[in-house]
Amino acid sequence: MESPLTLSFAALLVGAATAFAQTSSPAAPEPAKKADEPVRVMRALPINDKPLPDLDKLPRTLPPEGKISYSQCHVPGNVIAYTFDDGPSPEYTPHLLDILKERNIKATFFLIGKSVSTWPDIVKRIVDEGHEIANHTWDHQQLTKLKESRVLQELQSTHDAIVKACGVAPILYRPPYGAASLSQRKMIHEKLGYPTILWDVDPEDWRSPKSIAKVHDQVLKQTRSGSIILCHDIHKQTVDAMPSTLDELKSRGFQFVTVTQLLNLDAQTAKEAAIAAAAAAEAKAKAAVEAPATPEKTEVETEAKPPVETKAVEPAPAPAPSKP
Ligand SMILES: [Zn+2]
Repeated sequence: MESPLTLSFAALLVGAATAFAQTSSPAAPEPAKKADEPVRVMRALPINDKPLPDLDKLPRTLPPEGKISYSQCHVPGNVIAYTFDDGPSPEYTPHLLDILKERNIKATFFLIGKSVSTWPDIVKRIVDEGHEIANHTWDHQQLTKLKESRVLQELQSTHDAIVKACGVAPILYRPPYGAASLSQRKMIHEKLGYPTILWDVDPEDWRSPKSIAKVHDQVLKQTRSGSIILCHDIHKQTVDAMPSTLDELKSRGFQFVTVTQLLNLDAQTAKEAAIAAAAAAEAKAKAAVEAPATPEKTEVETEAKPPVETKAVEPAPAPAPSKP
Protein backbone atom coordinates (compact mmCIF):
# COMPACT_ATOMS: atom_id res chain seq x y z
CA MET A 1 0.00 0.00 0.00
CA GLU A 2 1.64 3.20 1.11
CA SER A 3 4.80 1.50 2.36
CA PRO A 4 7.08 1.18 -0.70
CA LEU A 5 6.56 4.73 -1.89
CA THR A 6 6.55 6.42 1.50
CA LEU A 7 9.55 4.50 2.66
CA SER A 8 11.73 5.23 -0.31
CA PHE A 9 10.80 8.91 0.11
CA ALA A 10 11.67 8.72 3.79
CA ALA A 11 14.94 7.02 3.04
CA LEU A 12 15.80 9.76 0.60
CA LEU A 13 15.06 12.54 3.05
CA VAL A 14 16.48 11.02 6.16
CA GLY A 15 19.64 10.30 4.29
CA ALA A 16 19.46 6.57 3.58
CA ALA A 17 21.44 5.91 6.71
CA THR A 18 18.73 5.10 9.22
CA ALA A 19 17.75 1.75 10.58
CA PHE A 20 14.18 2.75 9.89
CA ALA A 21 14.72 2.78 6.14
CA GLN A 22 16.68 -0.43 6.21
CA THR A 23 14.31 -2.49 8.30
CA SER A 24 11.32 -1.51 6.31
CA SER A 25 12.70 -1.85 2.80
CA PRO A 26 11.55 -5.46 2.43
CA ALA A 27 7.85 -5.05 1.75
CA ALA A 28 6.76 -6.68 5.00
CA PRO A 29 3.21 -5.80 6.04
CA GLU A 30 3.22 -4.20 9.48
CA PRO A 31 0.11 -2.02 9.70
CA ALA A 32 -0.02 -1.83 13.49
CA LYS A 33 3.43 -0.30 13.84
CA LYS A 34 2.82 2.04 10.94
CA ALA A 35 -0.13 3.66 12.66
CA ASP A 36 1.98 4.47 15.70
CA GLU A 37 4.79 5.98 13.70
CA PRO A 38 3.97 9.57 12.71
CA VAL A 39 5.44 10.88 9.48
CA ARG A 40 7.21 13.74 11.25
CA VAL A 41 10.61 12.08 10.81
CA MET A 42 10.74 13.41 7.27
CA ARG A 43 9.92 17.01 8.02
CA ALA A 44 12.36 19.78 7.33
CA LEU A 45 11.30 22.08 10.16
CA PRO A 46 13.04 21.76 13.53
CA ILE A 47 10.96 19.39 15.60
CA ASN A 48 10.92 19.45 19.35
CA ASP A 49 9.99 16.02 20.66
CA LYS A 50 9.74 16.59 24.42
CA PRO A 51 6.58 15.16 26.03
CA LEU A 52 3.59 17.47 26.30
CA PRO A 53 1.00 17.96 29.03
CA ASP A 54 -2.70 17.80 28.13
CA LEU A 55 -3.03 21.01 26.10
CA ASP A 56 -6.81 21.30 26.62
CA LYS A 57 -6.22 21.49 30.37
CA LEU A 58 -3.74 24.36 30.20
CA PRO A 59 -5.07 27.29 32.27
CA ARG A 60 -6.70 30.27 30.59
CA THR A 61 -5.60 32.57 33.37
CA LEU A 62 -2.20 34.26 33.49
CA PRO A 63 0.61 32.35 35.18
CA PRO A 64 1.43 34.06 38.51
CA GLU A 65 5.14 34.13 37.72
CA GLY A 66 4.59 35.48 34.21
CA LYS A 67 6.73 38.05 32.42
CA ILE A 68 5.93 41.62 31.35
CA SER A 69 6.27 40.95 27.63
CA TYR A 70 6.51 38.01 25.28
CA SER A 71 7.39 37.24 21.70
CA GLN A 72 8.41 33.61 21.16
CA CYS A 73 7.85 31.27 24.13
CA HIS A 74 9.91 28.34 25.39
CA VAL A 75 7.71 25.28 25.42
CA PRO A 76 8.03 21.53 25.01
CA GLY A 77 6.78 20.05 21.74
CA ASN A 78 5.60 21.95 18.69
CA VAL A 79 3.02 24.11 20.35
CA ILE A 80 2.20 27.51 18.84
CA ALA A 81 -0.31 30.35 19.20
CA TYR A 82 -1.95 31.86 16.14
CA THR A 83 -3.09 35.48 16.57
CA PHE A 84 -5.25 37.75 14.44
CA ASP A 85 -5.15 41.53 14.82
CA ASP A 86 -7.24 44.58 13.98
CA GLY A 87 -10.68 42.91 13.82
CA PRO A 88 -13.41 42.10 14.19
CA SER A 89 -14.19 42.51 10.52
CA PRO A 90 -17.74 41.85 9.30
CA GLU A 91 -16.32 40.89 5.89
CA TYR A 92 -13.65 38.38 6.92
CA THR A 93 -13.76 37.36 10.59
CA PRO A 94 -16.87 35.14 10.29
CA HIS A 95 -15.29 33.25 7.40
CA LEU A 96 -12.06 32.87 9.37
CA LEU A 97 -14.06 31.50 12.32
CA ASP A 98 -15.55 28.87 10.00
CA ILE A 99 -12.07 27.88 8.82
CA LEU A 100 -10.81 27.56 12.41
CA LYS A 101 -13.87 25.61 13.51
CA GLU A 102 -13.51 23.07 10.70
CA ARG A 103 -9.99 22.36 11.92
CA ASN A 104 -10.71 22.57 15.64
CA ILE A 105 -8.04 25.25 16.04
CA LYS A 106 -8.18 27.81 18.85
CA ALA A 107 -6.69 31.22 18.10
CA THR A 108 -6.33 34.59 19.83
CA PHE A 109 -7.95 37.77 18.48
CA PHE A 110 -6.47 41.18 19.33
CA LEU A 111 -9.48 43.43 18.86
CA ILE A 112 -9.90 47.11 18.08
CA GLY A 113 -12.29 48.69 20.61
CA LYS A 114 -14.09 50.81 18.06
CA SER A 115 -14.88 47.75 15.93
CA VAL A 116 -15.87 45.75 19.00
CA SER A 117 -18.55 48.30 19.80
CA THR A 118 -19.76 48.23 16.18
CA TRP A 119 -19.73 44.41 15.74
CA PRO A 120 -20.39 42.94 19.21
CA ASP A 121 -22.04 39.81 17.77
CA ILE A 122 -18.82 38.75 16.07
CA VAL A 123 -16.93 39.21 19.34
CA LYS A 124 -19.49 37.03 21.07
CA ARG A 125 -19.10 34.36 18.42
CA ILE A 126 -15.28 34.44 18.79
CA VAL A 127 -15.62 33.75 22.51
CA ASP A 128 -18.41 31.19 22.14
CA GLU A 129 -16.23 29.16 19.80
CA GLY A 130 -13.44 28.86 22.36
CA HIS A 131 -10.98 31.47 21.10
CA GLU A 132 -9.24 34.03 23.26
CA ILE A 133 -10.00 37.74 22.93
CA ALA A 134 -7.44 40.42 23.73
CA ASN A 135 -7.03 44.19 23.68
CA HIS A 136 -5.49 46.04 20.70
CA THR A 137 -6.49 49.61 21.74
CA TRP A 138 -9.55 51.64 20.78
CA ASP A 139 -8.46 53.00 17.41
CA HIS A 140 -5.01 51.64 16.69
CA GLN A 141 -2.95 54.55 17.97
CA GLN A 142 0.80 54.27 18.28
CA LEU A 143 1.18 54.24 22.07
CA THR A 144 4.73 55.62 22.09
CA LYS A 145 3.29 58.91 20.83
CA LEU A 146 0.71 59.18 23.62
CA LYS A 147 0.70 60.41 27.20
CA GLU A 148 0.17 57.87 29.96
CA SER A 149 -3.43 58.94 30.60
CA ARG A 150 -4.30 58.57 26.94
CA VAL A 151 -2.63 55.14 26.72
CA LEU A 152 -4.70 53.95 29.65
CA GLN A 153 -7.84 55.42 28.14
CA GLU A 154 -7.21 53.60 24.81
CA LEU A 155 -6.87 50.30 26.63
CA GLN A 156 -9.54 50.78 29.28
CA SER A 157 -12.26 51.81 26.82
CA THR A 158 -11.49 48.74 24.70
CA HIS A 159 -11.48 46.52 27.77
CA ASP A 160 -14.92 47.80 28.72
CA ALA A 161 -16.28 47.41 25.18
CA ILE A 162 -15.10 43.78 25.04
CA VAL A 163 -16.68 42.97 28.40
CA LYS A 164 -19.89 44.61 27.26
CA ALA A 165 -19.92 42.67 23.99
CA CYS A 166 -19.19 39.17 25.26
CA GLY A 167 -19.04 39.19 29.06
CA VAL A 168 -15.39 38.13 29.12
CA ALA A 169 -12.58 40.41 30.29
CA PRO A 170 -9.40 40.40 28.21
CA ILE A 171 -6.15 39.71 30.11
CA LEU A 172 -3.64 40.50 27.35
CA TYR A 173 -2.96 43.40 25.03
CA ARG A 174 -0.82 44.01 21.98
CA PRO A 175 0.41 47.51 21.15
CA PRO A 176 -0.35 48.63 17.57
CA TYR A 177 2.80 48.28 15.41
CA GLY A 178 4.37 46.42 18.36
CA ALA A 179 5.34 49.84 19.67
CA ALA A 180 5.39 50.32 23.44
CA SER A 181 8.37 51.51 25.46
CA LEU A 182 9.66 49.47 28.36
CA SER A 183 8.28 51.99 30.85
CA GLN A 184 4.88 51.86 29.11
CA ARG A 185 4.89 48.05 29.20
CA LYS A 186 5.70 48.13 32.91
CA MET A 187 3.06 50.76 33.60
CA ILE A 188 0.36 48.84 31.68
CA HIS A 189 1.28 45.62 33.45
CA GLU A 190 1.10 47.34 36.80
CA LYS A 191 -2.11 49.29 36.23
CA LEU A 192 -4.14 46.90 34.07
CA GLY A 193 -2.42 43.57 34.73
CA TYR A 194 -1.86 43.02 30.99
CA PRO A 195 1.39 41.51 29.75
CA THR A 196 2.49 42.87 26.36
CA ILE A 197 2.14 40.27 23.62
CA LEU A 198 4.38 40.70 20.60
CA TRP A 199 5.22 37.97 18.04
CA ASP A 200 8.08 36.16 16.36
CA VAL A 201 6.34 35.19 13.09
CA ASP A 202 5.25 37.98 10.78
CA PRO A 203 4.33 37.25 7.17
CA GLU A 204 3.85 41.01 6.75
CA ASP A 205 0.29 40.51 5.56
CA TRP A 206 -0.36 44.13 6.65
CA ARG A 207 1.96 45.33 3.90
CA SER A 208 -0.35 45.30 0.92
CA PRO A 209 -0.73 43.72 -1.50
CA LYS A 210 0.41 40.37 -0.13
CA SER A 211 -0.44 37.23 -2.07
CA ILE A 212 -1.94 34.12 -0.51
CA ALA A 213 1.20 32.18 -1.38
CA LYS A 214 3.46 34.70 0.37
CA VAL A 215 1.45 34.60 3.61
CA HIS A 216 1.46 30.80 3.49
CA ASP A 217 5.17 30.47 2.69
CA GLN A 218 6.37 33.03 5.23
CA VAL A 219 4.32 31.57 8.08
CA LEU A 220 5.63 28.09 7.33
CA LYS A 221 9.18 29.30 6.97
CA GLN A 222 9.26 31.24 10.24
CA THR A 223 7.18 29.09 12.61
CA ARG A 224 9.04 27.26 15.39
CA SER A 225 8.16 25.59 18.67
CA GLY A 226 6.60 28.25 20.93
CA SER A 227 5.96 30.72 18.11
CA ILE A 228 3.40 33.50 18.32
CA ILE A 229 2.18 34.11 14.77
CA LEU A 230 0.91 37.53 13.71
CA CYS A 231 -1.76 37.85 11.00
CA HIS A 232 -4.64 40.24 10.29
CA ASP A 233 -8.23 39.15 9.78
CA ILE A 234 -9.10 42.39 8.01
CA HIS A 235 -7.43 41.32 4.75
CA LYS A 236 -9.04 38.96 2.26
CA GLN A 237 -5.74 37.41 1.18
CA THR A 238 -4.82 36.54 4.77
CA VAL A 239 -8.08 34.74 5.43
CA ASP A 240 -7.88 33.02 2.04
CA ALA A 241 -4.38 31.84 2.90
CA MET A 242 -5.50 30.25 6.16
CA PRO A 243 -6.88 26.87 5.00
CA SER A 244 -3.64 25.76 3.33
CA THR A 245 -1.41 27.44 5.95
CA LEU A 246 -3.18 25.88 8.92
CA ASP A 247 -3.41 22.46 7.24
CA GLU A 248 0.30 22.46 6.48
CA LEU A 249 1.22 23.55 10.02
CA LYS A 250 -0.93 20.71 11.35
CA SER A 251 0.60 18.18 9.03
CA ARG A 252 4.04 19.27 10.22
CA GLY A 253 3.04 18.32 13.75
CA PHE A 254 2.23 21.77 15.18
CA GLN A 255 -0.49 22.04 17.81
CA PHE A 256 -2.44 25.21 18.50
CA VAL A 257 -3.25 26.84 21.83
CA THR A 258 -4.37 30.32 22.83
CA VAL A 259 -1.73 32.87 23.81
CA THR A 260 -2.57 32.62 27.51
CA GLN A 261 -2.22 28.86 27.35
CA LEU A 262 1.13 29.27 25.63
CA LEU A 263 2.26 31.62 28.43
CA ASN A 264 1.30 28.96 30.97
CA LEU A 265 3.30 26.36 29.10
CA ASP A 266 6.23 28.79 28.97
CA ALA A 267 6.00 29.41 32.73
CA GLN A 268 5.76 25.68 33.41
CA THR A 269 8.84 25.03 31.27
CA ALA A 270 10.78 27.77 33.07
CA LYS A 271 9.75 26.30 36.44
CA GLU A 272 10.85 22.80 35.46
CA ALA A 273 14.14 24.14 34.10
CA ALA A 274 14.74 26.01 37.38
CA ILE A 275 13.99 22.87 39.40
CA ALA A 276 16.33 20.81 37.22
CA ALA A 277 19.06 23.46 37.52
CA ALA A 278 18.66 23.60 41.31
CA ALA A 279 18.84 19.80 41.53
CA ALA A 280 21.96 19.75 39.36
CA ALA A 281 23.57 22.47 41.48
CA GLU A 282 22.70 20.57 44.66
CA ALA A 283 24.15 17.36 43.29
CA LYS A 284 27.30 19.21 42.28
CA ALA A 285 27.63 20.81 45.70
CA LYS A 286 27.09 17.45 47.38
CA ALA A 287 29.71 15.87 45.20
CA ALA A 288 32.10 18.68 46.05
CA VAL A 289 31.55 18.17 49.78
CA GLU A 290 32.16 14.46 49.46
CA ALA A 291 35.11 14.95 47.17
CA PRO A 292 37.87 16.31 49.51
CA ALA A 293 40.51 13.70 49.87
CA THR A 294 40.25 12.34 53.36
CA PRO A 295 42.57 9.38 53.62
CA GLU A 296 39.78 6.75 53.82
CA LYS A 297 38.02 8.07 50.76
CA THR A 298 40.95 8.27 48.44
CA GLU A 299 40.31 4.84 46.93
CA VAL A 300 36.66 5.51 46.20
CA GLU A 301 37.39 8.75 44.46
CA THR A 302 40.05 7.28 42.31
CA GLU A 303 37.48 4.76 41.14
CA ALA A 304 34.82 7.30 40.38
CA LYS A 305 36.80 9.85 38.38
CA PRO A 306 39.98 8.27 37.19
CA PRO A 307 41.97 10.72 35.05
CA VAL A 308 41.45 14.19 36.52
CA GLU A 309 40.78 13.31 40.12
CA THR A 310 43.82 11.08 40.54
CA LYS A 311 46.10 13.89 39.52
CA ALA A 312 44.36 16.37 41.77
CA VAL A 313 44.15 14.06 44.72
CA GLU A 314 47.64 12.73 44.69
CA PRO A 315 49.63 15.91 45.35
CA ALA A 316 47.23 17.10 48.04
CA PRO A 317 47.85 14.69 50.95
CA ALA A 318 51.51 15.52 51.28
CA PRO A 319 52.21 16.23 54.96
CA ALA A 320 56.00 15.88 54.91
CA PRO A 321 56.44 12.76 57.08
CA SER A 322 60.21 12.97 57.29
CA LYS A 323 60.38 14.21 60.88
CA PRO A 324 62.74 12.38 63.02
ZN1 LIG B 1 -2.76 46.20 14.62
